[in-house]
Amino acid sequence: MNFADFSLDARLNAAVEAVGYETPTPIQEQSIPLVLAGRDVLGLAQTGTGKTAAFALPILQRLITGPLRKVRVLVVAPTRELAEQIHQTFTDLGQNLKVTSTPIYGGVSKRPQLAALRRGVEIVVACPGRLLDHIGEGDIDLSNVEVLVLDEADRMCDMGFLPDIRRILKHLPSQRQTLFFSATMPDDIRNLSAEILDNPATVQIGMIAPAETVSHAIFPITDKLKNRLLLGMLKQTPTGRVLVFTRTKRRARNLAQLLSNEGYNSTALQGNMAQNRRQASIDGFRDGKFDILVATDIASRGIDVTDISHVINFDIPDTVDAYTHRIGRTGRAEQSGDAFTFVTENDEPMVRDIEKVLGEPLERRRLPEFDYGDFVPERQTAIAQAQSNTSARNRRGGRRPNFNNNNRSPRPGGGASRSGQKSWSGSPRQQRSPGTRRSG
Ligand code: AMP
Repeated sequence: MNFADFSLDARLNAAVEAVGYETPTPIQEQSIPLVLAGRDVLGLAQTGTGKTAAFALPILQRLITGPLRKVRVLVVAPTRELAEQIHQTFTDLGQNLKVTSTPIYGGVSKRPQLAALRRGVEIVVACPGRLLDHIGEGDIDLSNVEVLVLDEADRMCDMGFLPDIRRILKHLPSQRQTLFFSATMPDDIRNLSAEILDNPATVQIGMIAPAETVSHAIFPITDKLKNRLLLGMLKQTPTGRVLVFTRTKRRARNLAQLLSNEGYNSTALQGNMAQNRRQASIDGFRDGKFDILVATDIASRGIDVTDISHVINFDIPDTVDAYTHRIGRTGRAEQSGDAFTFVTENDEPMVRDIEKVLGEPLERRRLPEFDYGDFVPERQTAIAQAQSNTSARNRRGGRRPNFNNNNRSPRPGGGASRSGQKSWSGSPRQQRSPGTRRSG
């Protein structure tokens, strides 16, 4: 299928070409015709599938006709970074149109947002809190909204935004098209979608299971050895852009500092940073100024940086959903990537949960030539295996994880499978090293 098959306006096709999309991704193939036809859509899709353009293109097509300078499209997203990314996609794809978009989120001055609203925009991409502020102060008229998009609804729910969403809904016309995207469907999200969607078409892409272009491995380790393990990894392997996740803001800050001290071009992205510093980190990572970004989960939402070769979970995430989102940062738009997770003894139950969702055991690796001291990764694996077998027996007939497996099982369509490879390092395509140290 081609973008031309959607019969979009020539100016949109030209923009698609200018941004370099050649063929539609599966979610675009499925969603674009539905949205063009005016249907409500329930999109079960994770980040990295091309879902932003899947709704942005048909929305822009709609906006070509009809009034200008009225808010006709409202997109609600959980984080500033995601709002910026969506706004950017609208701007890039709408580059040949008169239509304009403005992002609205907290942590920055209201003044430019007010100025944009007064000038008149057709698309508002907003985080719930600041949008409600503007609504409360009468700065924004939502009575002309024709299309509402709720993006990453599950994340908004996790972040406690559900009451805000309901408040926002009260200010929108009930006659509208609604597009609802979520990577997972917990009960309250399912209820919300049932309430606000009218006879929706469901589009499901890679529900829950992470992108197949990503290969996964875990490294048993202790908390104390993590810093050294990371440094050892970075030294040994050819990688491109590396995204490292930590559990807390403080750890993100300290780890980015440690990496900088070791001579790596690295930066942090965490919630205590001012918005302009966060944006500078993302921009620097995207532009190649930084090879390594150390981030927390919330801050990382919506980082639109393609070509991340490795996601390293320095700390395992708290939920399987967060794991899916983190590793959705690599292997984006059909490129392959590696996801490595440092796992301490306490993390083993979460490993089992992740394996259940992936439907296969995570390969366990030991970093070659790394001094583990007294710690024996294989011992942690053996204990985990024993515990897992016990719980599998208790579950009766449950899948028995295959630990200590050095051969990665082939993935459907997964170019990233490199069975039998001895070292942990990435594929030959990754020639650039983040170890490109600053001079000196
Ligand atoms: P998203 O899932 O919307 O966050 O998109 C993930 C990444 O894929 C973004 O960097 C998009 O620019 C990129 N992308 C979206 N659609 C396509 C396409 N048809 N071909 C290539 N890249 C795409």
